Amino acid sequence: MSKITETEVVRILSDLISIKSVNENEIEVCNYLKELLDKHGITAKIIKLSETRANLVAEIGNNGPVLGISGHMDVVSEGDVSKWQYDPYKLTEVEGKLYGRGTADMKSGLAALVISMINIHETGTLTYGRIRLLATAGEEIVGEGAKAFQSQGYMDDICGLIIAEPSEDRIIYAHKGSMDIRVTSKGKAAHSSMPNLGYNAITPLIDFVYNANDGFKKFNQSNPLLGPPIMNATIFKGGNQVNSLPEYAETEFNIRTIPEHVNHQFVSYFNSILQQIETEQTQITIDTYMSRPPVFTTGNNSLVHHAQSFAMKYLNTSLEAQASPGVTDASDLLVDKDENFPFIMFGPGNVSQAHQVNEHVEKSIYLAFVALFTEMLPTYLKSLN
Ligand SMILES: [Zn+2]
Repeated sequence: MSKITETEVVRILSDLISIKSVNENEIEVCNYLKELLDKHGITAKIIKLSETRANLVAEIGNNGPVLGISGHMDVVSEGDVSKWQYDPYKLTEVEGKLYGRGTADMKSGLAALVISMINIHETGTLTYGRIRLLATAGEEIVGEGAKAFQSQGYMDDICGLIIAEPSEDRIIYAHKGSMDIRVTSKGKAAHSSMPNLGYNAITPLIDFVYNANDGFKKFNQSNPLLGPPIMNATIFKGGNQVNSLPEYAETEFNIRTIPEHVNHQFVSYFNSILQQIETEQTQITIDTYMSRPPVFTTGNNSLVHHAQSFAMKYLNTSLEAQASPGVTDASDLLVDKDENFPFIMFGPGNVSQAHQVNEHVEKSIYLAFVALFTEMLPTYLKSLN
């Protein structure tokens, strides 16, 4: 019974990076993790979302409070591969840095959680409580993995949650929500010299964007931690020939929400904008295809304090606890938890590396987080006894 060696810790990350789980194919990551956990006597369960997508759950400990540890298994696309210095799907070590898609966001964090769970199990250091690994699919799109875990009851008995997203330089305990809304407009094509024979799909959509932006000022509250809500029309498309009336146009909005102005208010708001501009000729539809609520906790809890003191011990640094604008699976996992719930986002890698070309994590930081979680998780649970 011994801890996983440093060589193996790096090899596990290397194996994970070589699985191309670009918003898809998480089932291969599940299969890999299940086999790894099995080898160390931990039973894991794969919960399918589709033929190629799945969540994985595993638990150690027999009774007492349950600490949730979570990471997503998907990564974003590598983008223009010619801009990468190294193969994005082959872990490459150069001068103490480990390069590859997902090294920061967040296969190093996921690996550190899984390995620490194995270490804790192998060395028998969990004397009180349980640790539940929740590995999710689809975090980078709409969070269907987290939504599934939550609705299936896996969060019901959880007393604290750690998400190991890249956050080696700060401990995050609250973040904004996010929404993506597509508004489409149908018209009728006609030659632009005879517009009365058709209907221009762009025209009402311009009014929609204008009215939506103009009315947004009524969302004037600001959260003390998270700041004001934010809304931007980020895509506008329509038409394909300069002398034809466009028969189709669409626009998309991204909205960052706060507890004072929550997601469903914006659904109602968009419907009210539609009513303002609808005529007999307009054919406008609104599709809220992504909606993840804000996460608001106070950060006044011993999980945050434990993370700070173990950061001092293993990372040799004093980390601030902060709120962040980014979204995590906590949005969906914590929908029914209150502001006193202990939640932290804390893991290897720097958030500035996420989704970047030449993404990397410091090898020493990755190794440090394995040691950090291995000691911190059982220590935190023991403190609750
Ligand atoms: Zn991430």
